[in-house]
Amino acid sequence: MHLIFIGAPGSGKGTQAEKLKDNRQYCHVSTGDLLRAEVAKVSELGIRIKSLIDEGSLVDDRTVLDLFKNNLNLLENNYIIDGYPRTLEQCGMLDSELLAGTSYRAIYFQIDEEKVVDRIVNRRIAPKSGKIYNLMTDPPQNNGVCDISGEALVHRDDDKEEVVRNRLNIYKNSVSQILDYYRKQAKLLTLDASASPELVYKELINILR
Ligand code: AMP
Repeated sequence: MHLIFIGAPGSGKGTQAEKLKDNRQYCHVSTGDLLRAEVAKVSELGIRIKSLIDEGSLVDDRTVLDLFKNNLNLLENNYIIDGYPRTLEQCGMLDSELLAGTSYRAIYFQIDEEKVVDRIVNRRIAPKSGKIYNLMTDPPQNNGVCDISGEALVHRDDDKEEVVRNRLNIYKNSVSQILDYYRKQAKLLTLDASASPELVYKELINILR
């Protein structure tokens, strides 16, 4: 069964996906990570994507879905889909072009806006190991360096407060339609994402039973 993680930026989708992936043999695919990998290639497409990500806007539906399709093997793996869909149109595209005939659930990470802003501005990521740190609640042992890989931690440009507000506004404009879409199909499960990562993980395992 595939899992679609829905929630505001900073609601903990990536953190929980990494935990679940290791314990339950899922593959974690994040559209944000795929898009950032394209940016890193400095291709023509990557340059166009970068300017949209930097201002906190969405990349067009077709580009994201194509990139996504090229990186999945739905017949062989169970996926945690993180960061997609972000619009009602993407919900329809995902069903018709990828998930048709497969079994899946959508998990909604419910959390207050101010809490996520706080989390995101303190977020630092280790791109290679995938580990996500919070400078206040879960800092690395050595300043600025990943405990697992030793690589330098990154503060994403779009994790600065002005851009975060824009990303949240976009999220708020579409999330209720996305939740309705999955609720109507009886595929929606909701969890309280404001607790610690350990408690959220327990709840996640519980609701998946
Ligand atoms: P994330 O890492 O999920 O916070 O995504 C970072 C950025 O990538 C977003 O602010 C968008 O610019 C872009 N992005 C990620 N997923 C999508 C998507 N499903 N549709 C459009 N743009 C996306």
